[in-house]
Amino acid sequence: MYNRRMANERVQVITDRCRGCGACVTVCPEWAVTLFTDRNNRKIIRIEAAKCSGCGDCIPMCRYHAIISEGEEDAE
Ligand code: SF4
Ligand code: SF4
Repeated sequence: MYNRRMANERVQVITDRCRGCGACVTVCPEWAVTLFTDRNNRKIIRIEAAKCSGCGDCIPMCRYHAIISEGEEDAE
């Protein structure tokens, strides 16, 4: 089972897939995506639910399919 984090009702982050490349950070019009270093010293993203509008602009930016829309089938 993948480690999923609910960002808001429409977007989920599958943190196991995130490589910390930052491509999704720059595209977010709400500045809701931030990179941080987890306890294993791995860079991953966090989406602030309060800021995220659920526009979905970040989803196609991730080549690793780490951001998916709610209800979407896993592509990998
Ligand atoms: S584009 Fe994908 S791999 Fe890159 S930081 Fe965003 S979620 Fe992680
Ligand atoms: S769905 Fe839109 S507002 Fe939410 S994190 Fe992605 S780009 Fe930003």
